[in-house]
Amino acid sequence: MLELPEVLTLSKQLNEHVAGRRIEAVYLPTKIHKFCFFEPEPALFEKRIGGARIERAEGFGIFAEIVFDNSLRLSVDDGINLRLLRDDEVPKDYQLRLALDDGRNLVFTVSMYGGISVHEEDYFNKYYIASRESVSPFSEGFDAVYHERLAESKPNLTAKAFLATEQRFPGIANGSLQDILFAARIHPKRKVATLTADERAGLLEAIKEVLGEMTRLGGRDTEKDLLGNPGGYRTVMSKNTAFAPCAVCGTPIVKENYMGGSVYFCPECQRN
Ligand SMILES: [Zn+2]
Repeated sequence: MLELPEVLTLSKQLNEHVAGRRIEAVYLPTKIHKFCFFEPEPALFEKRIGGARIERAEGFGIFAEIVFDNSLRLSVDDGINLRLLRDDEVPKDYQLRLALDDGRNLVFTVSMYGGISVHEEDYFNKYYIASRESVSPFSEGFDAVYHERLAESKPNLTAKAFLATEQRFPGIANGSLQDILFAARIHPKRKVATLTADERAGLLEAIKEVLGEMTRLGGRDTEKDLLGNPGGYRTVMSKNTAFAPCAVCGTPIVKENYMGGSVYFCPECQRN
């Protein structure tokens, strides 16, 4: 799934590779995917964006968005795989294919679930709005948002839940939070109410630094970019490193199921 570093990488690559291109043809889904959500129905896409020119792309929260010269926007959320492919590279099945005027295609597929929508800027969808209105961790206002969210936290809220639920921080989810918590030396099940002032400050710094590094390097190595290449950021705590020795202390990295997903942590560096 895409998180903020991948969304920013994707929008940057769209700006580099497809800005200025015109949509020559819109190809509908080759096969129904129960968990690929379209807004509006894909049969209407041709009428809205067929012939439109891509002006630019933007990334925010869990969305990457293409802006067209007719003021419409196409956005994809964190579950969509978007690739730029030549005709001979297009897979047999996809959820959407936009043929560009330079012979290449934007091809959209979905693995578990995802959404593709074409809309004006005022798209009414709660996840979209939360992402749109989110304060970027790279902007000045983020510290205040972080402290506000901490102050609002219920006593039982754990560190993983704090970072990844309730749209507190759109774009931080079960991937990037693992490395953020490791960098801050905080256990995923630690109650945030028990964090010391130093730990609170450390967690804030870890959010900014880890997401910054992931973005600078083109996303995490567990995800692929617009060109199909894995991101250049080597994840420290992920499926790629489970059970391997911790880089800091050598203790084997633990993988556990927690809150509808796996958590990876070092039981020595991140004591609960
Ligand atoms: Zn360790």
